[in-house]
Amino acid sequence: MHWSLAIAKDIVERRKEKKHVVATGITPSGDIHVGNLREIIIADAVHSALINMDVDARLIYIADTFDPLRRRYSFLPEEYETHVGKPISEIPDPEGCHSSYADHFLQPFLDSLDDLGIKIEIFKADEMYKSGMYVDMIKEAIARREDLSRIIEEVSGRKVPVEWTPFNPLCDVCGRITSAIVKGYSPDKQEVYYECECGNKGVASFKGGGKLAWRVDWAARWKILDVTIEPFGKDHAAPGGSFDTGKRISSEIYNYGAPYPIPFEHILLKMKEEEGTKAKVTAMSSSRGTNIPVHEMLEAVPPEILKHVISRVRPEKHIEFDPSLPLLHLIDEYEREIGGIGRGVAGTIPFRHFITLVQIARGNFSELLEVIKRSGYEVHEENEEGINEIEKKTKYVENWLRKYAPSSLKFELQSALPTEEIKSLSDAQKKALKLMAQEIKEGMSLSSADWHNKIYEVASATNMEAKEVFKAIYIALLKQPSGPRAGWLLASLDTEFLKERFEAAAEKV
Ligand SMILES: [Zn+2]
Ligand SMILES: [Zn+2]
Repeated sequence: MHWSLAIAKDIVERRKEKKHVVATGITPSGDIHVGNLREIIIADAVHSALINMDVDARLIYIADTFDPLRRRYSFLPEEYETHVGKPISEIPDPEGCHSSYADHFLQPFLDSLDDLGIKIEIFKADEMYKSGMYVDMIKEAIARREDLSRIIEEVSGRKVPVEWTPFNPLCDVCGRITSAIVKGYSPDKQEVYYECECGNKGVASFKGGGKLAWRVDWAARWKILDVTIEPFGKDHAAPGGSFDTGKRISSEIYNYGAPYPIPFEHILLKMKEEEGTKAKVTAMSSSRGTNIPVHEMLEAVPPEILKHVISRVRPEKHIEFDPSLPLLHLIDEYEREIGGIGRGVAGTIPFRHFITLVQIARGNFSELLEVIKRSGYEVHEENEEGINEIEKKTKYVENWLRKYAPSSLKFELQSALPTEEIKSLSDAQKKALKLMAQEIKEGMSLSSADWHNKIYEVASATNMEAKEVFKAIYIALLKQPSGPRAGWLLASLDTEFLKERFEAAAEKV
């Protein structure tokens, strides 16, 4: 049984609600990365399992757009120092292409969710506050400031300062949401009176004039949005942590039962800094730059693969995400157990094989179509959808090769005979190449298996180990002693070209 189904069954058994809301929340303060995506993938899987069980369930994502910018991250220009402390919905887009800082990082992520086929209702925290959805929660929180303070102290064991209030006003002079202190309030007028570090004394409305402290905010939104299920990073689940606090705030202040928690482990990124170095394992973090944004990963692998990589692992286990060879192994596994990538002919060519074909075509798409045909696949140029699917798969492969592939999988088909390297071949190897050339008859076409057998025949005819023949072939074609499966490589190349190349190599002294 998939873990998502086991969780869905447990929810139906334990919870009394007949309608469920599965909530997720991520702050778009930087690129939303593959590590963040785990929360959505888990929520989506459980939501789908509930729907398959005929349970009424919704899937929502709350973008924390009203959170302050914590510090000037390394990817921000110097002048963004002045924006630290302001809500990210109120800060300009650092690249000027969206209406706010928050949207700049949120929109590519929402587009990725579309690509991933995840249908999710979007709420933006700043809009929720501005529209008044939080008014009653704020009123209650301010009225019960002392109870909240006591709960936080009891659960976390931390001392809460006397001047602490659960509401952080947005200063109308300096624009920060982190530097004003509430001095008084009017529940009737739905406003607080504050003093800011910048010297400003002002009035802030419950409607968009500030936000609840985050532990209180978390509990408040459960009630506002009827949340019954929520996955979150395991750090929040630690005893005395934010979920424990939220649980008590929810029941004691808001008279609402906390959602069914699904704590999950991190995704650790395993990546080599440069070729030849040992891969480093780091927790994914946007602020430290150790992450791969979801939209970037989706340029190099199809969405179903990214989804598979994350959803195959139970939430309580960590994932070591290595986008190089281990990711390719997972793609192999997916193709074996679940299905091909892409529709039409594209879906019948294994991804690993496609990596070879794309490199043989050297960026020339019409040559790629020829290469695919020579490899034994039927391609119909007039079938637009089929061609589009091949194009799509080509883009994934090209991006994966450029960004993540280990050098062992990369090669360059040599347009001319690599004369220097050929000199390193033994006479026996040259003889083998000559035999290979003689075997190629006009107009013949061999499958990869045929080629494979032929190499072994030539090896035994020349009394050589097959690996020496392989090596000679790779050097003659790729200027390197190893390469992709030789059968695949030879089958995808034009036989005339091969004949000429092997002859030229055999004659070179
Ligand atoms: Zn932008
Ligand atoms: Zn101020």
